[in-house]
Amino acid sequence: MEKNTVVMKFGGTSVGSVEKINNVAERAIKSKKEGNNVVITLSAMGDTTDDLINLASKISNNPPRREMDMLLSTGEQISISLLAIAITEKGEKAISLTGYQVGIFTDDIFSEAKILSVKKDRIFSEFEKGNIVIIAGFQGITSNNDITTLGRGGSDTTAVAISAALNAKYCEIFTDVDGVFTTDPGIVANARKISMLSYDEMLELASSGAKILHLRAVEFAKIHNVIIHVRSSFNNNEGTWVMDTESLNEKMEQAVVSGVSYDTNQVKISVFGIPDKPGVAAKLFEELAKASINIDMIVQNVGEKGIAAISFTIKNEDLKIGERVVEELKQSLEIKDIEIDTGIAKLSIVGAGMKSHPGVAATMFSTLGSNGINIEMISTSPIIISCVIKKDRIKEAVKLLHDIFGLGK
Ligand code: ADP
Ligand code: ASP
Ligand code: MG
Repeated sequence: MEKNTVVMKFGGTSVGSVEKINNVAERAIKSKKEGNNVVITLSAMGDTTDDLINLASKISNNPPRREMDMLLSTGEQISISLLAIAITEKGEKAISLTGYQVGIFTDDIFSEAKILSVKKDRIFSEFEKGNIVIIAGFQGITSNNDITTLGRGGSDTTAVAISAALNAKYCEIFTDVDGVFTTDPGIVANARKISMLSYDEMLELASSGAKILHLRAVEFAKIHNVIIHVRSSFNNNEGTWVMDTESLNEKMEQAVVSGVSYDTNQVKISVFGIPDKPGVAAKLFEELAKASINIDMIVQNVGEKGIAAISFTIKNEDLKIGERVVEELKQSLEIKDIEIDTGIAKLSIVGAGMKSHPGVAATMFSTLGSNGINIEMISTSPIIISCVIKKDRIKEAVKLLHDIFGLGK
């Protein structure tokens, strides 16, 4: 009989100590003894990645991105080798492999690389030898043999890509909470675990700040139809299933609002006094795109007397480059003033049922308004509504929306 392949990923807090690494070893051995081919993907231990970033920042505030990837990829090498040692110590066979050794090929966008393909032969040959295969998350290799990393939180994506390559039944993401909640359980005490989510809802939650799953992992899962089970590494409770809910036999009741998310890692750049004529916005955003800056929200005001203003938000880490690009355009675009606001955050509500329920946006805006929380920008698409508000009101706003949409326990 052909064996099942099981892929389990453990995040930083789940391998944050020797004791926890031993727990992961036990889980891996149990699954192997049940007759499965077992792959474990790990993140770096605890705060290792942050510590490495801090270390580099003491030497340079603009380190080469290739060298940062070389540095950060070491975090996962520590955890995978320790787990292999732990499993061996318990009498079972295991081998740790880097992205290079497996053949996880990516493009060459250092620090935000995309997985292009995953080779299977080394993994299969290790299964044949009876090994539990432990693979470093978050890292890959370019066609030039340079080490890349996949962006913060990217170990999730490694796990999903391996699940797709090996045709695993599903991909288990073990973390420090019981699953995907109606909002961050770290800030709202009565947040509720969601038992099942569609890929599209999870995509919107991940892209709007819920860091429980790496956005690209969900994109990859949707394309390759990999079912994800997000669950706790500290208990055996059933977690959250992320899958193609449309294909389920019993049609699920779609929640109008499934979750509230927030993103405090954003800054707003505004350019004032620009000519209200065709091509100005195009030029501005073309130059930002050339500098590899992703734009999130955009608002252009109605031009008055031929003069307009545009505000947009980008990630904190892109601020220095973004500011430079806009400064360089000041003359050619006749920009009068540039304003940077680092005191903002994005607040979003997500739900597949919004499509067929009018009034959701009105409830969101009036709840914020009646509590004196000003909305600076708005964006909507069929299953998500986002607002930019002041950062110092964000936690309060998340709680208010979580309450008004009845998401609590
Ligand atoms: P890991 O190290 O296991 O990858 P992360 O820190 O990346 O874990 O993600 C888990 C964290 O995501 C949780 O501890 C929680 O604080 C946060 N989080 C944010 N939004 C949500 C949400 N909607 N549901 C669950 N967790 C969330
Ligand atoms: N260790 C990496 C990070 O901290 C990847 C991950 O945890 O998924 O971002
Ligand atoms: Mg994570």
